[in-house]
Amino acid sequence: MSKPLSAPVPVSTPVTAKDLDALLHFYLNYVAGIRPAQASKHDICNALSLAIRNHLIDNQFVTEDRYQKADSKRMYYLSMEFLIGRLLASNLHSLGLEKLAQEVLQKYGVTLQDIEEAEPDAALGNGGLGRLAACFLDSLASLDMPGFGYGINYEYGLFKQHIDHGYQRESPDHWLHEDAPWLIERSEATCNVPLYGHIDHNRKCNNGFGPWVDWQTIVGVPFDIPVVGYGGRTVNYLRLYSARSSNEFDIQIFNGGDYIKAVEEKIYSEKITKVLYPSDSCWGGKELRLIQEYFLVSCAIRDILNRHLEQNNSLDNLADKTAIQLNDTHPSLSVAELMRVLMDEYGYEWKDAWETTQACCAYTNHTLLPEALEKWPVALLQHVLPRHLELIYEINRRFLMEVEAFWPGDENRQQILSLFEESHEKQVRMAHLAIVGSHSVNGVAALHSKLVQTRLVPDFFALYPERFNNKTNGVTPRRWIVQSNPSLTHLFNDTIGTDWVLDLSQLKKLEQYADDAAFQRAFAQAKLDNKERLAQVVREQSGIMLNPASMFDVQVKRIHEYKRQLLNILRVIHEYLRIVEDGKTPEVAKTCIFAGKAAPGYVMAKLIIKLINSVAEVVNHDPVVGGMLKVAFIPDYKVSLAEKIIPAANLSEQISTAGTEASGTGNMKFSMNGALTVGTLDGANVEILEEVGKDNIYIFGLSTEEVEQMRLQNSYISKEYYQSSPAIKRILDSLVDNRFCRGEPGIFNPIFDMLLDGGDYFYHLADLESYIAIHQQIDEEFMQEDLWTRKAILNTARMGKFSSDRTILEYARDIWGIQSA
Ligand SMILES: *Cc1c(COP(=O)(O)O)cnc(C)c1O
Repeated sequence: MSKPLSAPVPVSTPVTAKDLDALLHFYLNYVAGIRPAQASKHDICNALSLAIRNHLIDNQFVTEDRYQKADSKRMYYLSMEFLIGRLLASNLHSLGLEKLAQEVLQKYGVTLQDIEEAEPDAALGNGGLGRLAACFLDSLASLDMPGFGYGINYEYGLFKQHIDHGYQRESPDHWLHEDAPWLIERSEATCNVPLYGHIDHNRKCNNGFGPWVDWQTIVGVPFDIPVVGYGGRTVNYLRLYSARSSNEFDIQIFNGGDYIKAVEEKIYSEKITKVLYPSDSCWGGKELRLIQEYFLVSCAIRDILNRHLEQNNSLDNLADKTAIQLNDTHPSLSVAELMRVLMDEYGYEWKDAWETTQACCAYTNHTLLPEALEKWPVALLQHVLPRHLELIYEINRRFLMEVEAFWPGDENRQQILSLFEESHEKQVRMAHLAIVGSHSVNGVAALHSKLVQTRLVPDFFALYPERFNNKTNGVTPRRWIVQSNPSLTHLFNDTIGTDWVLDLSQLKKLEQYADDAAFQRAFAQAKLDNKERLAQVVREQSGIMLNPASMFDVQVKRIHEYKRQLLNILRVIHEYLRIVEDGKTPEVAKTCIFAGKAAPGYVMAKLIIKLINSVAEVVNHDPVVGGMLKVAFIPDYKVSLAEKIIPAANLSEQISTAGTEASGTGNMKFSMNGALTVGTLDGANVEILEEVGKDNIYIFGLSTEEVEQMRLQNSYISKEYYQSSPAIKRILDSLVDNRFCRGEPGIFNPIFDMLLDGGDYFYHLADLESYIAIHQQIDEEFMQEDLWTRKAILNTARMGKFSSDRTILEYARDIWGIQSA
């Protein structure tokens, strides 16, 4: 099925099978201490990764020399999440070493695919935001650009999901327990992070502030993951920090005789990087999370300045050589930290420090959902970061003077714009800090950027219009087509050559084959191959049987009310009731595939998972349905699973309430792989529509403006839909009768109540009828195979815009001022 890829790229340092074989033997025998004949797949995976890593390190030195020689400006991407997934396959492919690895592995009686499957996913992220960061690193390296990731080396990545009687169960993902061959410890670049303490107001430093005293120190130890670009010429790094206790600090307490306290402090310090917070699009407000954010910021800024000073005499030209991109507000303490270091440690005046800070920093907004906007209580900041709080007060004082100059006497504006929110508990608005301290503020799709300007922070937009811009997201075609869809890749390479891998707009050339019968057949065959591959994986991993001849109708993403998996399953229930109650036999066999994790504390999202599984249980075992409709919830959605699900999809469900999904990137991956989208006019769906054309996408539902109107006028009365539509009434009633509850009476009542008692913030019932109707159209068109395949081909051919290479080139040109070197 997945044939070896025709080696597409030159390898910078020649490697022979003999070299690789010897290295593999060396790592198994002498590093792992295992007889090669007895090595497990996991052992071989590690050893092979270490062997490849050598190669990456060589190229990393060469890359660094090149950047130094060019005296390049560098970009640092600060993100609390990097959802990178597996690396062996992508690294081998980028280096063009797949064939060689396959050859060497024969001796061990295993295939390269087996070994690649033995690698655990690096799940250091929740969803789209973290995956975007990973795609950006791939594009930066593939474009030979000096751009580097800074993040946290969580000991526990995103939890693993199991399904137990239809319910989500979580278990820890201790990925660092397993050896992590891609991580290279850089203890020489360890840095100290100050925390707690207080300001001594009885003394004054040169800059007029009292000194920050009695702080404690946490140590940040960096681990680098090499990031190789396609072709292997450029190797950048992703630098992840682990927290350690400071020896100095321990020894002081040990010497004081309080052994237990010293050990407790040590445990406390190391707790900081233990675990990734598992909430997506929802802000938690926990002290440990604040410390994690500051820990990242402090380590990154320290490292960035040190690196700058290795090549420059002073920090005067820092902004000429440095760009810092803040991935959402999570690292926005960078603004205060950079000010603190420049002023308190390097003696800069406020004005110069501020100019440098603003010129370096840029902020990407990722969400309009109010529950996701970070605000930290002033009392907490006072306790943890007293000096930063003081600086934020001063930043705000100066900022409000600007507001006063722009809108004299307008106290309302001052309140709206202030970095501080005077609610029951005074809080710092982190988005405001990020906007004020940056020279650029961008949204992640055209619609989203417009909504940032008009709805989220219109007064900031009025004050600083030139600061706002859009950078529509993209995804890397290396992972999301070449690596995950070898069947389609071969077809493309045979048809239009291989240049499209580094220039996705070249896929346009496929348009001329959209009506070509032979190409259509090959395209449809590639899709069928991928469906069979997925069916096999799902059968092996969860025992669920999928029929590759049916339509694969797929919604995979974090489970969230705004993403409306509930709308999807309500529609599936409708299709089921049509069969069993109305006696209608469907003309299209359909498999509705779901996957995704719910935040462990998100009760409604977890209940939606249970509902999907309960519906699956009933539908899949109903003899009347006769296999024409199937529902499958595939557990433990993650990057490596996405790589198998997405190429197998016929239909991509992108059905968030208009105005809630900032961009989406799953939508792009599907369309690139020849799935048609059913979606609302939300996020990047709007731009996908523009690119593929209205005949090649299924758009339904309320527009952003209509949703906004309904919100303003309070005119969404969900009961009216229930009372006036027999179909909707029947669907909802089925939630509370015994059809799906089976032995747990009443379990879905909270969903029924939420939908009908004014708790439906995402307007499910307002879009349900048009959603059902468009699915009817979809079924009819899916039956016309040539028509469907033609549309699928046109989707792929017209997705060039959504390569993250295009996104990165725009950031580089408009925001960072960095170049290929
Ligand atoms: C792409 C991706 C996402 C983002 O999906 P959306 O549909 O844009 O929410 C989330 N998780 C994984 C594993 C992904 O690969």
